[in-house]
Amino acid sequence: MLNALVSETGPMNGRKPLEGRSAIVTGSTSGIGLGIAQALARAGAAVMLNGFGNPADIETLRSSLADDNDIDVAYDSADMSSRDAILMMVERAAARFGQVDIVINNAGIQHVAPIGKFPAEKWDAIMAINLSAAFHLVQATFDAMCTRGYGRIINVASAHGLIASPFKSAYVAAKHGLVGFTKAIALEGAEFGVTSNAICPGYVWTPLVEHQIDDQATSNNIARDAVIRDVFLKNQPTKRFATVEEMGALSVFLCGDLAASMTGAAIPVDGGWTAH
Ligand code: NAD
Repeated sequence: MLNALVSETGPMNGRKPLEGRSAIVTGSTSGIGLGIAQALARAGAAVMLNGFGNPADIETLRSSLADDNDIDVAYDSADMSSRDAILMMVERAAARFGQVDIVINNAGIQHVAPIGKFPAEKWDAIMAINLSAAFHLVQATFDAMCTRGYGRIINVASAHGLIASPFKSAYVAAKHGLVGFTKAIALEGAEFGVTSNAICPGYVWTPLVEHQIDDQATSNNIARDAVIRDVFLKNQPTKRFATVEEMGALSVFLCGDLAASMTGAAIPVDGGWTAH
């Protein structure tokens, strides 16, 4: 009995925890998605990278991730606002890896404006990329996961999937929607070994946030340090940014066998922001 417990929690005879698994991570050429892809690769999973960027840089990233971890790493440039592109990415991943065990819906964009001036096309783009893409990707992979009796869906939502801020109507609506979607899928997969959880980060140090800091400092003519202290970390009690490594470590845990009972959760990783 004790041996069984030790082998389940320990390093499994030298095997990496996600060896033999394969994952699609959307929006993984940068920031949180990249951090999660790196953590899954280190844990032994084959990974399909996705996202925009310079092709040469992406190829360098792909090949080093594969070589460093001795796993298969592929890249697909699918635009998450296109259902057809998402379905083709799933076909390519299944053909290359044999199956898709893990789906990380991470790609996301932001636009900040008061409701009266919020551009309708920005609303549509945020809904498509931050919410509908998760539906298309899960729909294309879910039944096969259920048939195999193992699947892991992780939706990168946000603290804004749990609470709101002004001027972020589309983002807040999409992230709340993503949390609801997470719960519905958890119920549908529960008897089949397929879990579905949302990670809800507070502010994480990524290119997306760095650009917002620069924009606010310039447009309000205030110092960068003041923007960080008085705007970004104002509501984050730890007074530090969360890290992409923290998102990666949680994702690896959620993909493991010991997280089999954890499903339908919206997990804040926000330095206590939503504890207020
Ligand atoms: P980021 O800008 O660093 O990375 C976004 C990634 O998504 C990039 O790889 C980009 O190429 C990709 N992407 C954007 N549009 C795409 C599209 N149409 N199709 C395919 N890929 C696309 O951003 P990030 O900060 O790492 O954010 C990642 C996710 O985490 C987003 O869903 C975001 O809402 C969420 N999030 C971020 C924070 C934060 O503080 N950084 C906090 C909470 C939630």
